[in-house]
Amino acid sequence: MKSRLFTPGPTPVPEDVLLRLAAPLIHHRHPEFRALLERVQMNLRTVFQTREPVLTLTASGTGAMEACVVNLLSAGDTVITVNGGKFGKRWGEIASRYGVRVVECTIPWGDVVQPSQMEEVLRLHPGAKAVYLTQSETSTGAATDIRIMSEVIHTHSDALVCVDGISSIGAHELRFDAWGIDACITGSQKGLMIPPGLAFVALSAKARKAMEQASLPRFYFDLGVALAAAKKNDTPWTPAISLVAALDAALLHMIEEGMEEIWKRHRRLALGLRAGIEAMGLRLFSQKPSFSVTPVWIPESVSWQTLQSAFRSENGITVAGGQGEFAGRIFRIAHLGYYDDLDIIAVVAGLERALARCGFSVELGRGVSAAQRVLA
Ligand SMILES: *Cc1c(COP(=O)(O)O)cnc(C)c1O
Repeated sequence: MKSRLFTPGPTPVPEDVLLRLAAPLIHHRHPEFRALLERVQMNLRTVFQTREPVLTLTASGTGAMEACVVNLLSAGDTVITVNGGKFGKRWGEIASRYGVRVVECTIPWGDVVQPSQMEEVLRLHPGAKAVYLTQSETSTGAATDIRIMSEVIHTHSDALVCVDGISSIGAHELRFDAWGIDACITGSQKGLMIPPGLAFVALSAKARKAMEQASLPRFYFDLGVALAAAKKNDTPWTPAISLVAALDAALLHMIEEGMEEIWKRHRRLALGLRAGIEAMGLRLFSQKPSFSVTPVWIPESVSWQTLQSAFRSENGITVAGGQGEFAGRIFRIAHLGYYDDLDIIAVVAGLERALARCGFSVELGRGVSAAQRVLA
């Protein structure tokens, strides 16, 4: 049976990108690798919509999150985080582990922080050094309007705007320079369509300046060292060479399609999927769903275990379960990266079959037809 991955990381990898992973290794201090990294660094700037440097770290996405804490802050600093899901919460967990004072905006899972709420928190904590946001909160599928939040933060404070774009970059519009973002990260196994193992950090001039004052301890994730190396198309430590080669191929696809087209495609896929799901009589979880992952309430009469195994054993489809308090109550279908219209039709058809197998009454083809109409 064909296996079909619909999870928000890892995501499917295009065939020619897989082949790049199988190529013989080149040495990372050799001119051939420098040329490769130079092209990758240039194309990453397009992905982040920036003229600023975008660093490539060998780590999962969380490594880039930690880098954005230890390089920008000192012990005793105050920062603002938004806890509306597992990943927003993680910003706070990392910062507090390093002795940073964390002011957490707590919102119900599935919601997004409102500009007025952020304004209020900034007023109460005028000395906050940074605000840590999550563009697409993968655990709930909720999408925060980063353009507006960044404007609010810059208008009311001097804080750095740091954005976790791990499950949104390559799916959602994100303009690092135009929106005044100071630090933005992503990971390789999400919208960038390669396996896990690389993480990326873009830094504004203001963030680079803040790095000079920041005194939290750092070694592997010292971005000052990484920036100096990146200028010479180099990395401080041995990079995941094969992943950088694969990334080169994946970025060529992205550049060829164009960022605006990529954002439009993800929007179309998300809307098509939502129409299919609602036509089957299921309910969407998030009030403000992102275009990269769609969480859905599991019907009362169905267990997650049965649904998951019906998806997998009969259709080869892997979707993600709920996290935290929503484990067993929602499931999440990702459409982040290498997906097209027919993938959406396939997952909607798979969902109809899986639900029918679970004894949930669904007319086969009803969801597919609704999705078809939106996608067409
Ligand atoms: C996947 C994800 C992370 C964590 O990345 P890892 O690669 O698992 O370390 C962080 N934030 C968001 C929004 C994510 O989707």
